Amino acid sequence: MTAEKIDGKAFAASLRETVGRYAAEFERKANRKAGLAVVLVGEDPASQVYVRSKGKSTVEAGMNSFEFRMDADTPEQALLDKIDSLNRDDAVDGILVQLPLPKHMDEAKVIATINPDKDVDGFHVINAGRLAVGQEGFVPCTPLGCLMLLEDRLGDLSGKEAVVIGRSNIVGKPMAQLLTDANATVTIAHSRTKDLPGVVRRADIVVAAVGRPEMVKGDWLKPGAVVIDVGINRIEGEGGKGKLVGDVDYQEAMQVASAVTPVPGGVGPMTIAVLLRNTLVAAYRQEGIALDKDAL
Ligand code: NAD
Repeated sequence: MTAEKIDGKAFAASLRETVGRYAAEFERKANRKAGLAVVLVGEDPASQVYVRSKGKSTVEAGMNSFEFRMDADTPEQALLDKIDSLNRDDAVDGILVQLPLPKHMDEAKVIATINPDKDVDGFHVINAGRLAVGQEGFVPCTPLGCLMLLEDRLGDLSGKEAVVIGRSNIVGKPMAQLLTDANATVTIAHSRTKDLPGVVRRADIVVAAVGRPEMVKGDWLKPGAVVIDVGINRIEGEGGKGKLVGDVDYQEAMQVASAVTPVPGGVGPMTIAVLLRNTLVAAYRQEGIALDKDAL
């Protein structure tokens, strides 16, 4: 059996198109564009690429992008002041501080300074708490994107056995909560889990968010499982060129599972699309304009 490749790139493109339509509707109703502010501190090359691509996608979706770059040696207080002014700026609906921050800054303190209602990354403890107790807030973009791909593929997730490998605050934990809310039976596996292959073999749904290249093998999977691979790992490819792989051995998984996300082109493109979605949702909420629950 060869599994189906879950085309995250195509799904993300269609989500971005939908966001674009609602962004135009928002502009008509609110008489202004929705806006996302992205703050980048330092010159980390990967972060610069992410920030540029977030800005471009935001504008393409018909929203305003505000970019702020600060030197790596900027005092922490200057960043907190910047966030404070963005919190008070009515043209800014979403605020994203690109991580990682330079070592002299306290990430938790910086994120805690963002107004939770503009925290479109969903990293603020208030939003983590809202997700935990089932209140409306913002959910981190990557796990929400994974849930969208799963529901698109499987429809109702009720009663499915799901195993999430990884328990980070930005992927594993919120993923497990989203799956629980969708009525799946969820196991969180991690670095101390005993017999990980045995645990994974129970799952109808596997979400791997570990950061270990091709760790999940074909014989760990239940035949017909749906596999979502969040991992992004750069390994040595042919001719010494770097190559991106996920946390799942894709070729092996394709022989056992019913559907698998590739890396690249699976979960990755969903993250930015959901960021745009969260920003627009923030804008509707900020202006008190009703948005159909299932619209985005
Ligand atoms: P993290 O390092 O914060 O967490 C990794 C988790 O994996 C930990 O909870 C740890 O317990 C678990 N783990 C480590 N070794 C393990 C092992 N041998 N067996 C079982 N579990 C093990 O990482 P993260 O931020 O959650 O990211 C995970 C991966 O997802 C990384 O490759 C990252 O690059 C990728 N990622 C991708 C996107 C995207 O947009 N596609 C977004 C965020 C993260």
